[in-house]
Amino acid sequence: MIPLESAASLARLLADRKISAAEVADAYLGRINELDSKLGCFLAVDADSVKAQAKAVQEKIDNKTGGPLAGVPIALKDNISTQGLETTCASKILKGYVPPYDATVVERLKAAGMPILGKTNMDEFAMGTSTETSAFQKTTNPWDTERSPGGSSGGSAASVAGGLAPVSLGSDTGGSIRQPASLCGVVGFKPTYGRVSRYGLVAFASSLDQIGPFARTVEDAALLAATISGHDPMDGTSLPSKAIDVSGLKQGSLKGVKFALPTELFGDAIEDGVKEQLEASIKLLEAEGVIFKRVSMPSVLYGVTTYYIIAPAEASSNLARFDGVRYGALVEGGGHIENFEKTRAHGFGREVRTRIMIGTYALSAGYYDAYYLRATQVRTKMRMEVEAELKDVDAVLCPTSPGVAFKIGELLGDPLALKMLDICTIPANMGGFPAISVPCGLSQGLPVGLQIMGGTMADERVLQLAYAVEQALPKTPASPLLEGVAG
Ligand code: GLN
Repeated sequence: MIPLESAASLARLLADRKISAAEVADAYLGRINELDSKLGCFLAVDADSVKAQAKAVQEKIDNKTGGPLAGVPIALKDNISTQGLETTCASKILKGYVPPYDATVVERLKAAGMPILGKTNMDEFAMGTSTETSAFQKTTNPWDTERSPGGSSGGSAASVAGGLAPVSLGSDTGGSIRQPASLCGVVGFKPTYGRVSRYGLVAFASSLDQIGPFARTVEDAALLAATISGHDPMDGTSLPSKAIDVSGLKQGSLKGVKFALPTELFGDAIEDGVKEQLEASIKLLEAEGVIFKRVSMPSVLYGVTTYYIIAPAEASSNLARFDGVRYGALVEGGGHIENFEKTRAHGFGREVRTRIMIGTYALSAGYYDAYYLRATQVRTKMRMEVEAELKDVDAVLCPTSPGVAFKIGELLGDPLALKMLDICTIPANMGGFPAISVPCGLSQGLPVGLQIMGGTMADERVLQLAYAVEQALPKTPASPLLEGVAG
């Protein structure tokens, strides 16, 4: 049954002509038809276009001109620009906006022969941790449809966990790939800042945003990361580096590998069940020869506070372009200023408006030094603290999310609790480090994620370690929606 195959194995079946790209696309369109009314993963699916793309990529498969995942369809978070396909960032202000160009990652996926299945639901402008700030719909978790898939890339995570897409892309500013991956029991990878082009990604906080893959296995995530990464002259922050090289993915051994365990991320902020799963995994890895070093990184405790100054500050500036003139659905108010006010008041949801106000305040005269400047100093300290530890170990290991999937609506009245869910993921964004979430068992019947974070440009090593860890740990089951598929 096609949805049960990993992307790598689908690609092999396609290359060996055991199945066609059209059959794969039809199988996934069928899953979307059957399940998306319950899961709410997709904001847009153009079935005719998916079929046409599948037909066209068959040629690439036949001529062997595609990438390693040629013929494997992919779902994209709705803040990634797709030429001719509506891109809304799950915001009313962008309803009806059809980009005139493709993001660089989309161009690369197309060149690699990967049909685009559709656009996935998210928190509005990627601001959130539960996909509940979407202006359009709720997304549910394939493990329990009363629960949130996490966020902000909740639709991308749930589509992979539910078998509605073999792989997908999300964006991660403070954890929006890794946290939903953890809550949905799939793999989510945030590459080094600058390793994947942001050209065509609708900007939230430009110094933190990074595009990355969701997949059901580390190998699939690595193959997808290799497909989309590498220098892009269209993005001024793109690193002058080659694409991520996954040729050594399976060659790592765990013997003698050293992981740092930051005590701050194994403390009171973390649910007991999550800690137990992590400690059990640590024991199993120790038996494989891994050496663990308990360390202290005191600054990471300030990560959330610092992030919620820097990210809104950048957002307030980035979102100025949605004024009804340059971008955004115009709501007439009379004069130019009134148009601007009405357009933004009507088009942006509450969370986005709150962040714009916080960011504008933090950047305003008299407050800049006290808030923004200070936050950037703490950010540097945090990066240096992590880098100092990384001199002595291969990577940092910690939980991805302090808890398992929570009920939809449960945390809506408690914005602080929602924001604290980012405590383990924010350090990687602050330092620009690559980090991955890998499933490591269940707590209360729901998936737990283990995070591995490495130094800048250590994407290959992080993926290699994650692969070895995934092989060493007992396999976490797939979501009930996938387990239920007849093999
Ligand atoms: N949860 C964080 C926020 O609300 C991170 C979001 C993200 O990574 N896009 O901003």
